[in-house]
Order: sequence, then structure tokens, then C-alpha cells
Amino acid sequence: MVVMTPQASEADISAVVARLEAVGVHAKVMPGELTTAIGAIGDPEGVRALALEGMAGVDQVIPISRPYKLASSELSHDSPTSFDVDGRRVGGGETFTLIAGPCTVETREQTLAIADAVKPYASMLRGGAFKPRTSPFSFQGLGLEALAILREARDRTGLPVVTELTDSAHADALAETVDVIQVGARNMQNYALLEVVGKLGKPVLLKRGLSSTLEELLMAADYILKEGNERVMICERGIRTFETATRFTIDLGGVAWLKLHTHLPVIVDPSHAAGDRRLVEPVARAAAAVGADGIIVEVAEDPDAALCDGPQQLYASGFDAFAASVLAHAEMAGRRVG
Ligand code: PEP
Ligand code: MN
Repeated sequence: MVVMTPQASEADISAVVARLEAVGVHAKVMPGELTTAIGAIGDPEGVRALALEGMAGVDQVIPISRPYKLASSELSHDSPTSFDVDGRRVGGGETFTLIAGPCTVETREQTLAIADAVKPYASMLRGGAFKPRTSPFSFQGLGLEALAILREARDRTGLPVVTELTDSAHADALAETVDVIQVGARNMQNYALLEVVGKLGKPVLLKRGLSSTLEELLMAADYILKEGNERVMICERGIRTFETATRFTIDLGGVAWLKLHTHLPVIVDPSHAAGDRRLVEPVARAAAAVGADGIIVEVAEDPDAALCDGPQQLYASGFDAFAASVLAHAEMAGRRVG
């Protein structure tokens, strides 16, 4: 990180950026209230060899040892990142984002009914169009047909829509239709897909891989951020451990760690972690209490009839009570809800 002096001119800053870029180092300019910092992302030895301390306007060059660079809280002047998704504020430590909807778009009627049920409390609507199923013989989602349904649900409720991209071939179709592109747990380390998502420039919900460390998660976020897309939400959705009582083990200590180590908003998915709707509300409340910036939950009118993830989906009829309880916890944790 190159910290400029308060007196550094625009020309001084541009000269440092040009020097870095000339040797293939990625430069990110971060203007602060008093000083501007420039993140130099590349080989640390190579950056050191440039002797930037000697350039006009440079105060100091501070090596950052963390393997994740752009996602690191060190790059953000200690202020968490926030951004708008179609007028809904995400991150920044003030709001709490409640994303809810069906696991999978199955029919128009099913999706619109759930959208209506979650609308009073939700900030965004989720719904899978392309489903990454463990078995190739399981229902794979309606695909492009689902995108049209999600679009209708969006127009009807005004809720921004979140859906997963599983194949770069569908990137443009998703970018045209939905508001947030989800990268699922199984694709967290699909680096080519992450770069495609970075280039789309739409807000992203990046889920933690089933067996990924938090450092790997933040390095995956770097793949998106380095394309110039800064609207990335990180999602803890449970990991594989020796414990089999729950579907995955939710890492709430990891959420607190993420809040310290990244400036990006952190969202918790209690549904996929728990695999059991009875656990979703307590885990969601705990997520709010531990400082998460929001949650993403699955909701169905008739979960028993759902083609995917029925046991973990909340009943739409109970969504109001669920949301009120979780949002009360978010308020106690200092978040503004409404
Ligand atoms: C999902 O949210 O629809 C999903 C498949 O989740 P994950 O990638 O976390 O398994
Ligand atoms: Mn699901």
C-alpha cells in the first residue's frame, strides 16, 4: 500500500499509478479524507524494487502480507464497503439485508406467491434458475424460462432479484434480467467464472465453498474485485466438518472474523447450513447478533412439494413472524431496519 502525503497532487498520484502499471502491478487508488492510498497488487518483491518512496508525494510504502488484497479491510481506510442494489443499501454497518425466496423457481404461480409473501419484510428476492445439483439426475432448474418468471416477480414486487450463474454461457442473459449474480458454493473456486462475473459489473453474492477456508474465500473475492467490480457480498453458508447432525456446519465465528478482515458486506445463509427449517430462525438470529450484514433464506408455500431443499425451506405463512424476530435482533445489534 502506497500512502501519499496530504499535499500530493493528482499528477503525483497518476505518476505512481503509471509506474506500477508499467511493470504489470495492478493499482487501485483509494482517496481518503486527508490522504490518498494506492493499493499495489502484485509481486511484493517487485513493488519493493521500484523504490516508490523516492517519488514525489509518496509518504510511505507499507507491505501488506495477507494473501487476499482487494478484499482486505486494510485496503478500505477502516470503513466497510456499502453499495446500492436497485436503491437498497447493502453493507456499511448500518442496514440489515434480508434476502428471501424459493430455493428454485419451479412455476410462475409458486414464485409469484412466495414473492408476495416475503415482500413486506424482504430487501431482495432469491430464486434459482440454473441449479447446481449434486446428482445430474436431480431437477436442474427451469433455466432461461425461470429468468422470465423472476423478472415478472421483480416487476410485481419491486424487489431486486438474486439468482445463481453456473455457466458463463448464461452470463449475459442473467445480467440483463437480474440484479444480483450469485456464485454458488460449488463454483467459489471456478476462477474463470469469477472473472466473467467481475466483468459483468453487477452486484455479486459470493458463497463460501463447501471446504474452503476464509482466506480462500477472500482470495476468490479478489478475482471479482480485480475486474473493477466492487459490489461484492460474501456469504457464509456452512462448511463440511466431521459433524453430520446439521447439513453443514455454520461458521459464525468465521462471520466475526470476516467482519474484522474484509470491508465487504457479509451475508449468512442459515437455510443451506442447517438443512432443517427448525434451525433456520435461531441461526438467523445468531447471524444478526454476530454482526452479519444480512441473511439469505429459502421460503416455500408448500415445502413438502418442493423439487429441491424442501426440509430447510421456511413456510411462507410464517415468514412475517420469522422476519420480525430476526430484524429485532438486527436492531439490537445496531442495524437500521425498515
Ligand atoms: C443456493 O443458494 O441456491 C445454493 C445452491 O446454495 P449453495 O451454493 O450455498 O449450496
Ligand atoms: Mn436450495
